[in-house]
Amino acid sequence: MERWTTRPLKEKVGFFHSSPFVWEDCTCGHLEGVNKCCKAKWLKHYYQKPCKVYNNWKMTLADSKLDIVHPNFLFPSRLNGFESEGAYSVMVAASELERKTGKKVIRLEIGQPSEPTPKHIVEAACKSLQAGETGYTLPLGLRSLREEIAKHITETRGVTVLPEEVVVGPGAKPGLFFTALSILHPGEEVIYPDPGFPTYKAMAIIAEAKPVPVPMRADGKSFDMQALENAIGSKTKMLILNSPNNPTGGVMPTEDILHIADLAKQHNFYVVADEIYSRLVYTDEKPPSIFSLPDMKERTILIDGFSKAYSMTGFRLGWAIMPEFLTRKMEPLLVHAVGCTPPFVQAAGLAALRGSQESVQEMAKEYEKRRDVVVKELNSIPGVWCPVPEGAFYAFPDVSSFGMSSKQIANILLEKGMVAVLPGTDFGANGEGRIRISYVAPMDMLKEGLKRIRETLATLPTTNNHSNGTN
Ligand code: PMP
Repeated sequence: MERWTTRPLKEKVGFFHSSPFVWEDCTCGHLEGVNKCCKAKWLKHYYQKPCKVYNNWKMTLADSKLDIVHPNFLFPSRLNGFESEGAYSVMVAASELERKTGKKVIRLEIGQPSEPTPKHIVEAACKSLQAGETGYTLPLGLRSLREEIAKHITETRGVTVLPEEVVVGPGAKPGLFFTALSILHPGEEVIYPDPGFPTYKAMAIIAEAKPVPVPMRADGKSFDMQALENAIGSKTKMLILNSPNNPTGGVMPTEDILHIADLAKQHNFYVVADEIYSRLVYTDEKPPSIFSLPDMKERTILIDGFSKAYSMTGFRLGWAIMPEFLTRKMEPLLVHAVGCTPPFVQAAGLAALRGSQESVQEMAKEYEKRRDVVVKELNSIPGVWCPVPEGAFYAFPDVSSFGMSSKQIANILLEKGMVAVLPGTDFGANGEGRIRISYVAPMDMLKEGLKRIRETLATLPTTNNHSNGTN
């Protein structure tokens, strides 16, 4: 067993940080490499684990990445709490496990469709490349694509949108990030769902605003509306509404959407409506977009894109709809951060919107089938409860009855079961006790993944057996 002694790091290498690092000597000799580096005045270390003794960060050789930091380096306080996305870390860990063991991990961690991008879309990109469309282009997007997106939104949301109100970017993420940078003043508050997509917290932090996570209901469909009302205050500037939700798959009921629109008008805040999963809703009646409600267009930034609906995650193409005056600040942000979105990628987007929408409908039907299988299977595993997600392609089962953290469960499933899922806490503290399963994998792989989950969980004792499906 490893034994640790502690001492302030600065004594050893003159390293300072706004919250002091603690350096720990490992008597098993693992830190040899570190000592050598200290002598060289460069610190090679692994950093990730909170130190139990000082409630701070300690260096450890376990489960983290190698980095080289200058002894006097200080990260700006603006980046406190600014973290990556868990899906990418698990993707790396699963690939590493596959490499080490030579065995296949069933990959249910990442939210990207397993279907290939429809052929006509790929062909449009190739044609554009062959035609030499490889240079810089307009920062806010090609006029033709902005027009097509405006038409698509006008038709699907029932509100007239002009091309001047459309911002195209490399993925939907720039729409989120740059919207935060153009709207938020330091100290203003951003309300977002917990569990929720990790970029929401990150975009608030980078804008030096205050992230205000609001718990979701246990069924994952909506905010706990009472908690939401309590969270709204004089500093609330933005609320993020993500329906269907990542990670819960929940679709927000109409009454809550109407209520949030009233709150936004009453308290004068912006709504960022992240509707990237809007084409993947499995309910008979689709609740309206908040963007379509009276007087909401002027205070809503609508985020959507090509990644999920057209299986185009790696193309990096998305859009944001916003009042025209806001696009004026989006333009320099895009210019300085990314320059522009590649023209051949935009040509693919144009083909996606103009072409047949059959593949989108087929994909949605297929996901609904997979959803049914996954939820039924999960609810038949002793100790697991899974609410029925009505959209997106995620299941968010409750595994708290095993008495371990969701991170521990996800680690066990990966290391013992060779199946990759995400811990619910990757989406916020309120995701504790849950894991996220992305059911985009083909059916046979999904079934194998579920079998492995069942078998691995069967080796764990449960503390309180949930009565499946009823709580
Ligand atoms: N919003 C949500 C809710 C998402 O799940 C994702 C992708 N996982 C994005 C935005 C970002 O989409 P893109 O990859 O197009 O940037």
